[in-house]
Amino acid sequence: MKWSYRIGSIRGIPIKLHFSFLIILLIFIWIFAVNDIRIKTLGIIIGFGGMNISTWLKYLLGAIASVLFFSTILFHELSHSFVARHYGTKIRSITLFVLGGVAQMEAIPRDPGKEAKISAAGPAFSMGIGIISYVIYYIFGPVSLTAPVATFKDATLLVVSIIAFYNVLLGLFNLIPAFPMDGGRILRALFATRMSYIEATKRAVAVGESFAFALGIFGLLTLNVFLLFIAIFIYFGASAEEKATIISVTLEGVKARDVMTAVPNVVSVPPDMTLNQLVDVMFRTKHIGYPVQEEQSSPVLGVITFGDVRQIPASKRDTTRVEEVMNREVISIGADTDASDALKLMSSKNIGRLIVMEDGQMVGIISRTDLMRAVQFR
Ligand SMILES: [Zn+2]
Repeated sequence: MKWSYRIGSIRGIPIKLHFSFLIILLIFIWIFAVNDIRIKTLGIIIGFGGMNISTWLKYLLGAIASVLFFSTILFHELSHSFVARHYGTKIRSITLFVLGGVAQMEAIPRDPGKEAKISAAGPAFSMGIGIISYVIYYIFGPVSLTAPVATFKDATLLVVSIIAFYNVLLGLFNLIPAFPMDGGRILRALFATRMSYIEATKRAVAVGESFAFALGIFGLLTLNVFLLFIAIFIYFGASAEEKATIISVTLEGVKARDVMTAVPNVVSVPPDMTLNQLVDVMFRTKHIGYPVQEEQSSPVLGVITFGDVRQIPASKRDTTRVEEVMNREVISIGADTDASDALKLMSSKNIGRLIVMEDGQMVGIISRTDLMRAVQFR
């Protein structure tokens, strides 16, 4: 994630904070400092607002409770990560941001049992720490706040009750059977024991979308903006997961070489061609991007696309040459690169095609369309 700052690492896993994390941290400090929510059925109080102490002390306690709570979110992600690493998955980093935490992992093993355990580890940690905290609160509490002077013990117990309440909430929320929640992954793992991985993903996504839909209706009827927001988040998270899975499963084992347009068939254009001539070539060959080279075996000087041509007014296209407007940064990959990595590179650079190189020579060109075709035909 852009705008992330590395704060350290735990057992070799880099821990990062996204700038949006600071916003949510401040909001939580404020919520805990001013509120005094009494949940009678559980006998707990959320917030330090009702304590008989100075305002700055309330904010200090709010800050302690918030930092502790976000540490438990970090450990939720670490729980996923440690189990994943146990199965050989490399963990790139864990980032805390406005919606909580996210662990960036390389390909998770496509084995239902392992994926279920990786996914369950986080909610198991949250529920565990929540229940233990509640038991501690239950043994030493409850806090009544009726005494004229608030004690250190009261303050500690209120911090414990916040950790208890929010971790149980977090655990339950993550068990919602919908992507991108952990529960969605557990559900897919269950389906995947009886059908193909893509089938299982589609099935789990359908459950998630129905869930999001029902939640959205409920949010609308009760005018609950928060529920509506979660419903939208789940809905889009579910369909994004479906697309990503279909692409990564179908491109598994496919190399750039398998889907590229190979060299004698690659249409390249010379640098001194005018843009009008290039437009003719485009009409004839029906591509939108072309490598630029003097002749077929010479080095690639750049790439020119329909988008580059469009930026030049039609009246000047007769006198403007390809080399004046082409993109000189040639982004290339090796012929044996995984096709899914090629797709990732195109997305991250926001480009439509890559030059495929081997031994310093262009051997082909690969476009998004080539990859999408590969996804559809397999
Ligand atoms: Zn999780």
